[in-house]
Amino acid sequence: MRLILIGPPGAGKGTQAKALVDRFGIPQISTGDMLREHKAKGTALGVKAAEFMNRGALVPDEVVIGMVEERLQSDAAKAGFLFDGFPRTVAQAQALDATLARLGLKLDAVVLIEVSDELLVERISGRRTDKATGQIYHIKYNPPPPGADLVQRADDKEEVVKERLVAYHAQTAPLVPYYAARGILRRVDGVGELAEVTARLLAAVSPGTVGSVAGPPHGVPPAK
Ligand code: ADP
Ligand code: ADP
Repeated sequence: MRLILIGPPGAGKGTQAKALVDRFGIPQISTGDMLREHKAKGTALGVKAAEFMNRGALVPDEVVIGMVEERLQSDAAKAGFLFDGFPRTVAQAQALDATLARLGLKLDAVVLIEVSDELLVERISGRRTDKATGQIYHIKYNPPPPGADLVQRADDKEEVVKERLVAYHAQTAPLVPYYAARGILRRVDGVGELAEVTARLLAAVSPGTVGSVAGPPHGVPPAK
């Protein structure tokens, strides 16, 4: 299974990625997590990426594409993968298409998790991550166990979140018509209980659905 999860910041990609990788036994490739690791280790790539991440802007395409290509060479990814937060621009999607074609691989589905901007701000401001396990919690919707060692992401501050939403609508939303035109886009309503959203996602990518259902009409503009 080769899947892509797209959606605005805070839509629930990281949370739901865990359920999908468990279900299909495929590795999760989160460019956000990879970039945060580079940042934490202080690598040259991490130092460069931080300039952009800290102000809510996308990291330049060539940096992210190089990092992903390296990852796709590993055997683990050949058995399948779930991209979470990549691609985020049309240029990244085109680079991924070229890499997959070279490796003789095809995407099964691109799943868009849809959530309105108003709800996203609330989700992001309550997001906390367990330092040791990377588990994602929400102070209200998915409360952490007592005593968990939690961190709040530096870019989850309200001013930075606004910039990330602007970047999403300007640079990432064009991927919706891009993949709809290829007939592999699946839209999933991201509002509801965590388990309910998981069930919708699994239904959207179940083998009976993938490849047999036509995507939305070509050229449908992304929801604003
Ligand atoms: P979220 O989906 O909550 O916005 P991510 O963890 O996916 O968070 O991304 C955090 C930040 O990392 C982004 O705001 C951006 O700066 C950078 N980033 C992650 N993935 C990409 C990508 N594919 N292209 C460019 N920048 C990226
Ligand atoms: P993304 O990776 O798309 O940025 P996350 O998976 O980190 O999003 O989720 C953002 C925040 O919203 C987290 O605090 C998470 O616990 C919470 N969350 C995720 N899914 C739901 C949901 N269905 N209902 C309420 N809160 C949710």
